[in-house]
Amino acid sequence: MRKIIIAIDGPAGAGKTSTAKLLATKLKYIYIDTGAMYRAVTLAYLNSKTELNNENLAKTISNISIELKPSDNGQITLLNGTDVSEEIRSVLVNQYVSPVSANEHVRKKLVDIQRKLGERKCCVMDGRDIGTIVFPNAELKIFLTASLEERTKRRWLEYNKQAGVNNLSFDEVSEQISSRDKYDSSRAVSPLYMADDAIKIDNSNITLEQQVEIIYNLAIDIIGN
Ligand code: C5P
Repeated sequence: MRKIIIAIDGPAGAGKTSTAKLLATKLKYIYIDTGAMYRAVTLAYLNSKTELNNENLAKTISNISIELKPSDNGQITLLNGTDVSEEIRSVLVNQYVSPVSANEHVRKKLVDIQRKLGERKCCVMDGRDIGTIVFPNAELKIFLTASLEERTKRRWLEYNKQAGVNNLSFDEVSEQISSRDKYDSSRAVSPLYMADDAIKIDNSNITLEQQVEIIYNLAIDIIGN
């Protein structure tokens, strides 16, 4: 059986992480949520309570360790050995993650880690630049997207589950998502765009399970039974 890398990229709220998690389980592959890594760096930067600039981000990134570990519900994110899986989903992290991720020092370190993690293949990795920069030779590249309204709905419901932590209105969530997309797509280093050889899936009108099934079948075509 062929061992492959499956790259899943796309804008915020497109369901990349849920898809990657289910797909990896089905294929018995490892799953790597690169957004969680950028979020952990953002949390470390926020904890440093310094001004957002190149020098401070370079300092932050050189002093931290970030690990992803498999857990019962997918994966936990460790920042300097501490589980920060919940903290990295806060409104504040959402607000700062795009500018932090646009920094070249941050990207260099995380892309190096991601390439190491995918070295042995058999992995599903999701993010913004997996099929374009991290693994441009990935055997299967998916670009997941959905309408802004649908993506906002999903994020908003997710926020509502964390009652008391995030009190944003629907419009505020929509604004947050679209400004993050704009920032991620227009940055100088590794902007979000669809690789020429990626397969685009708009999941506005299909279920998560249907979408996983589509990608699973595409993967099996390459891997073989
Ligand atoms: O996927 P998620 O919404 O958790 O990603 C959070 C942010 O991390 C994105 O908005 C983007 O700024 C950054 N990111 C990135 N490159 C990746 C994954 C995430 O720049 N490969």
